[in-house]
Amino acid sequence: MQIRFDNKVVLLTGGGGGIGRASALAFASAGAKVAVTDRDVAAGEETTAQVKALGAEALFIAADVMQAAQVQAMVAQVVAHFGRLDCAFNNAGIEEEHMRLADCEEATFDRIMGVNVKGVWLCMKYQIAQMLAQGGGAIVNTASVAGLVGAPKMSAYSASKHAVIGLTKSAAVEYGRKGIRVNAVCPGVIRTVMLERAVQADPKVAATVAGAHPIGRIGEPDEVAAAVLWLSSDASSFVTGLAHTVDGGLTSI
Ligand code: NAD
Repeated sequence: MQIRFDNKVVLLTGGGGGIGRASALAFASAGAKVAVTDRDVAAGEETTAQVKALGAEALFIAADVMQAAQVQAMVAQVVAHFGRLDCAFNNAGIEEEHMRLADCEEATFDRIMGVNVKGVWLCMKYQIAQMLAQGGGAIVNTASVAGLVGAPKMSAYSASKHAVIGLTKSAAVEYGRKGIRVNAVCPGVIRTVMLERAVQADPKVAATVAGAHPIGRIGEPDEVAAAVLWLSSDASSFVTGLAHTVDGGLTSI
């Protein structure tokens, strides 16, 4: 089955980043109208330009997912521009932490929780209100393999991604009968600037990550996007509350 999103409106957060950009382009190639959002204006506008270059309708909205008023306005702007909201990909996230738990600053913990947990919660809060008014929709949240197992030198990040899975499953149960499906993707190590930052902080990371995946390499943003599109589409109509790994077998060991 070829997955299509003709006449569907998709909202992505973290749309300027590696996984967000790949997903925006994949949605656009499948016929969607795409609202790209990011707090990084230059990166978000670049993704939006690339989406438009594919011939798709696109809109860029600058928004920080930690700020309730900005998230509410972001959803309202998508609906004002495109008339509805069919699919949301809550993907903005930060890692920042490359140290053991006792060495991590409280402010770092708060920032990670603020973006990765509160950000996803705020996005779902306003997206679900809109989807309820329309009679349904599909939401995908970006968790991580670190949301399924522990992650050394990333304990706050790991806790935040476990929380994303908790939010995902709870919302899936609460809104299943209302026609709203909510799933998560759990990527392994993916080739984006997030990985580049981790390698800069600890050069040993580069040598160890590829071998940690039974497939023998790290993943590409497109490979996460493929799972996001499937979870967002009617091809997965009986799937909700799933934490879907895209990890080259990393969590199967
Ligand atoms: P990235 O750094 O390339 O992209 C993240 C994007 O989120 C950036 O464009 C950034 O500006 C945006 N962002 C950060 N904080 C924001 C905020 N408060 N409001 C709005 N936008 C904000 O990283 P990526 O690898 O594409 O990561 C995307 C998601 O995938 C993240 O949630 C990350 O935790 C998750 N993830 C990444 C990997 C990996 O190996 N790259 C693995 C598992 C999970």
